[in-house]
Amino acid sequence: MDHPFSHPDATVAQLARTDRLQLLFRQSLTAVYGSFLGAVMLCWLCWDYIEHNVALSWIGVLSVATLSRIVLFTAYYRSPETSHTPSRWERRYWVTLVFSAGVWGLGALAVMPHDSLLAQAIVLLFAVGMSGSAVSCYYAYRSMTLAAIGLVLLPCTLWLLFQPSQLQTGMALAVLVFSSFMLRATGKLCAALEKALCLTHEMERAHHIASSAAQTDELTGLKNRRAFFEHAQQLYSHSQREQRPLCALMLDIDHFKRINDTYGHQVGDEVLRQIGGVIKASFRDTDVYGRLGGEEFAVLLADTPMDTALGIAEQLAQAIAQLQFVHHSDGRQGMTASFGVAVASAAHSDLHTLLNSADQAMYRAKAQGRNQVVAAD
Ligand code: GH3
Ligand code: MG
Ligand code: MG
Repeated sequence: MDHPFSHPDATVAQLARTDRLQLLFRQSLTAVYGSFLGAVMLCWLCWDYIEHNVALSWIGVLSVATLSRIVLFTAYYRSPETSHTPSRWERRYWVTLVFSAGVWGLGALAVMPHDSLLAQAIVLLFAVGMSGSAVSCYYAYRSMTLAAIGLVLLPCTLWLLFQPSQLQTGMALAVLVFSSFMLRATGKLCAALEKALCLTHEMERAHHIASSAAQTDELTGLKNRRAFFEHAQQLYSHSQREQRPLCALMLDIDHFKRINDTYGHQVGDEVLRQIGGVIKASFRDTDVYGRLGGEEFAVLLADTPMDTALGIAEQLAQAIAQLQFVHHSDGRQGMTASFGVAVASAAHSDLHTLLNSADQAMYRAKAQGRNQVVAAD
């Protein structure tokens, strides 16, 4: 589901509540028309037994209630998805629900004919039908389901309960027993729904954490080798399709083994972290960059011709040359890296040959004395 609360700080309970609101609006649209049509049909069926002006007034007030719900639904569906928050809509929904369910229940009581048992049974049957459909419409909110059932069913049922005839009392009792089963079922349904929604969000969250951990190099926070190749392949295919220029850049820290051997592995790790930070700050979101392994990094520059890529590599070389790590006995120490840059062309059959070209250029940079950028032939 799309979420106004896709914010990472939103709790699972908040996300589930937003789901329930969406479900409520989706499921209860039929109730808006259904309850009105039900009342019209009831009046038509019992027309000979009921007071006409009372029935017409009931239909009139019910039209207003139905209209208020149509306005609410229209406003909801016209407003942007991000504003579909429980705090904004729940209360408004409650008002229109109580209004229309209340009008329905009291109206049914008002039209209830006093002299025909058959007509009374028909009115009660309609009220039971309405309250049954309330479960399927409002089950996302237990309290709303209960309110709708109570408001629709109770006026007629309580009236019948206190009538002199045994048959009338019996009907009312049967309805009360039936409703108690319905209430129990609603409670279980709502609890199951809540649990399912929370579980879904917990699983989505766990999946997100696991998949981003599986794609990230722990030390630098950049993409790891696997994620780099996965995203690089997408960018490579896209650039080929759209015939956009694409450059590959490989970089390898110079004499990194010496840093490790002289100052220890921890200092080496710190150097890798610093270089990861510079890389992260140097490229756009549309570029793909990652740590391929050891002290070797690769970048795919989207929509970039060779001369621009060379300029960017030179800037990165300078930024790395300005980095420093502090050692307690040797003071501030610098570092450098060697770069190879290749532009995608007809000579490259795929991503790997392009990266190979950049890699070979990088080894030439090493051979020519390191701390420099070399373009592939
Ligand atoms: P060159 O200038 O020719 O690239 O020399 P180099 O010393 O940088 O290259 P070499 O491949 O000989 O050494 C790479 C070193 O990187 C060896 C390895 O121990 C170290 N290394 C690989 N991964 C890590 C890591 O995660 N942390 C640290 N601290 N060192 C690492
Ligand atoms: Mg190296
Ligand atoms: Mg290396």
